[in-house]
Amino acid sequence: MTSLQAPNDGTKADAAHFLFVPLMAQGHIIPAIDTALLLATQGALCTIVATPSTAERVRPAIDSAQRSGLAVSLAVFPLDYAAVGLPDGMPGEADNMDDLPVHLIGTYFRATALLREPIESHLRAPDAPRLPTCVVSDFCHPWTAELAASLGVPRLSFFSMCAFCLLCQHNVERFNAYDGVLGYNEPVVVPGLEKRFEVTRAQAPGFFRVPGWEKFADDVERAQAEADGIVMNSFLEMEPEYAAGYAAARGMKVWTVGPVSLYHQHAATLALRGNTTTIDAEECIQWLDGKEPGSVVYVSFGSIVHADPKQVSELGLGLEASGYPFIWVVKGADRHNEATLAFLRELEARVAGRGLLIWGWAPQALILSHRAAGGFVTHCGWNSTLEAVTAGLPVVTWPHFTDQFLNEKMAVEVLGIGVSVGVKEPVVYQVRKKEIVVTRATVENAVRAAMDGGEEGEERRNRARALAGKARAAMLEGGSSHGNLCDLVKRFQMVGATRGAAA
Ligand code: UDP
Repeated sequence: MTSLQAPNDGTKADAAHFLFVPLMAQGHIIPAIDTALLLATQGALCTIVATPSTAERVRPAIDSAQRSGLAVSLAVFPLDYAAVGLPDGMPGEADNMDDLPVHLIGTYFRATALLREPIESHLRAPDAPRLPTCVVSDFCHPWTAELAASLGVPRLSFFSMCAFCLLCQHNVERFNAYDGVLGYNEPVVVPGLEKRFEVTRAQAPGFFRVPGWEKFADDVERAQAEADGIVMNSFLEMEPEYAAGYAAARGMKVWTVGPVSLYHQHAATLALRGNTTTIDAEECIQWLDGKEPGSVVYVSFGSIVHADPKQVSELGLGLEASGYPFIWVVKGADRHNEATLAFLRELEARVAGRGLLIWGWAPQALILSHRAAGGFVTHCGWNSTLEAVTAGLPVVTWPHFTDQFLNEKMAVEVLGIGVSVGVKEPVVYQVRKKEIVVTRATVENAVRAAMDGGEEGEERRNRARALAGKARAAMLEGGSSHGNLCDLVKRFQMVGATRGAAA
């Protein structure tokens, strides 16, 4: 079953029509949808490809946008797991990354690539809305190069990452920085940058540059090199030299369009981002209303990370010892063993009134934007990091995988708004499994440094507040991201939307 809903189309006949093809993971699809909504507010028509269970998760946000008159719609396509050899007993509905067992990620990517033909057939169906004028696809979908070529339209790569991270990763690869470096944890200096940053192969191996993924990594790189441009959830004033540096290194235009979470001006739509929240947004706001301004620590590790039992207790005890009020997103009860559950329940009782545990999905951007929020303990997913920047909050940085180590460098070394807990290697999707536990004392000290930290802490918080002002200005009329959104809508309108229009 495939469905292509007719958009609530009040757009002009020659309006740009962006076909978004996000990766089915909340950290990718949430910013893709926000970007689509922002483009739609400038008069574009946007169609967003989703798999069935992901579509159900994001439908409330799309419905709400349609009710407010935006021409956005979902195009829903199931994955054909059988065609790529679905293992026995594997439920076919695991069509998003956060529900997917790690060993099936390769199968998942192969199944996703098979969407090219059904998507194109539907776009060409007689009753379909007009053909796209531009494909905006997640960089993890190299197969969309063929889709765009077959449709005869340009393709932009979508990244919810910062330019600093992308440029570091790109330079490490193009200048072969790890050649002759045997150690997985041996630091190398990122080549080609004015400032000195050190990374290790463990922290920044390159996208999909891990054993067994060589071909896919090459496909991703080729598709990126051949793209017609890049759309990025970042803003120019935060990292002008890296945005320009990445555009120059790639030889293509970069449209920084963020922070895209600022599409949402009201609590009601902010709380619709991602999954259905397990706490009522109003209850959350009331809890925060009862706290002093800038006093609450928000703790969350995004949509994919699941902490191991020992880490859960060290983190909980560290938060308790810090003495600050906190909101901690502990994910669903089904994700913990009995001992961890018992620990969490006891902690919840001990800190009642001061600590709020959210057992599932939190209205994160809403919490961060509340005046009581004072700091964010984050895994440094780029969306979370940028949401902290947008809210003007210092961060305690605790990377777990992929780009998060470079995002930590961005927060700590480039922006000067972060305090690191000192993790040096990934614990999720890692090449070599190793037990890494951040102690309660480290958690307590890092939280105290971010929330207080004397003069240094005050300077950190001031820098964070100043950045938030720049972030807001970028999204206002006359701001850099607003200008880039308008440029995209104009450049990819029906007339003139040919390959190479981005050059
Ligand atoms: N998020 C949320 N509530 C949660 C967990 C996550 O709203 O309980 C949102 C968060 O605001 C962000 C996204 O999910 O927009 C997570 O993206 P990020 O890049 O930070 O991390 P990932 O989930 O990709 O690891």
